[in-house]
Amino acid sequence: MAHRRSGKFPAVTNILVAVVVGLATCQVAIFLTTIFLHRTLSHRAITMSPGLRFACRFLTWISTGVRPRQWVGVHRRHHAYTDTEGDPHSPKLEGFWHVQVGNVVLYRRVAKDGVTVEKYAKDMPADRWDRVLFDHALLGLAIGIAGLYFVFGMNWEMTAIASGVHAVAYLGLNSAVNAVGHTFGKRPFEGLATNSQWLAWLTGGEGLHSNHHAAPTSARLSFARREIDPAWWLVALAGRLKWLTVRHAEPRLTANAQRAA
Ligand SMILES: [Zn+2]
Ligand SMILES: [Zn+2]
Repeated sequence: MAHRRSGKFPAVTNILVAVVVGLATCQVAIFLTTIFLHRTLSHRAITMSPGLRFACRFLTWISTGVRPRQWVGVHRRHHAYTDTEGDPHSPKLEGFWHVQVGNVVLYRRVAKDGVTVEKYAKDMPADRWDRVLFDHALLGLAIGIAGLYFVFGMNWEMTAIASGVHAVAYLGLNSAVNAVGHTFGKRPFEGLATNSQWLAWLTGGEGLHSNHHAAPTSARLSFARREIDPAWWLVALAGRLKWLTVRHAEPRLTANAQRAA
């Protein structure tokens, strides 16, 4: 890959390549988040083979630095208190922009409150791998950034651009699921959660958020013909390859889920 030596600002082509790689890396992290952290660990809608599970664990570590039991704890609490007092990131309680821009601050506050993870993720105690590797977020991110540095042929400028694009896009899209996904869009089910197909295209299906709150144990977030859940295609393919199994093929609505009039 052509690039200038460090010390000079990279050529326009290199900037474009770095932006595209950053966006692609973000999408890898988005798919890991929805399939592994969300559908598999938080809701057990999917059971992965040990090999795939470990691969997802490692890739999540180097692409996001997220500690799975913290993500699971915060997310299960969101389902327990959805848009009522106790919801970690409700735009109704906190305001849209507070969640859209400050989601990471809200997340960290609850993830480290000493109660939420202990209560909502007690089925996921830290194991040896966590203690040695996966609890060290900065180490994971450093390995991920070193990987990009290698991919870009030791070009630190391209590495910095790709890492920055990835970080901003990943945080922004995850925030949007919590902010936009409880504010704007269609509400086929009761509650404030919404469906937005455009957001679903960007977030591996997570934009179909009203569907998800109505049937949280469903591995598939698209219920209607025109709804598209990109991550489901990957889940279905991995299922055919026997890398994972889904809990139930058709969505099962919770007892409380009522279709909006
Ligand atoms: Zn929600
Ligand atoms: Zn969920």
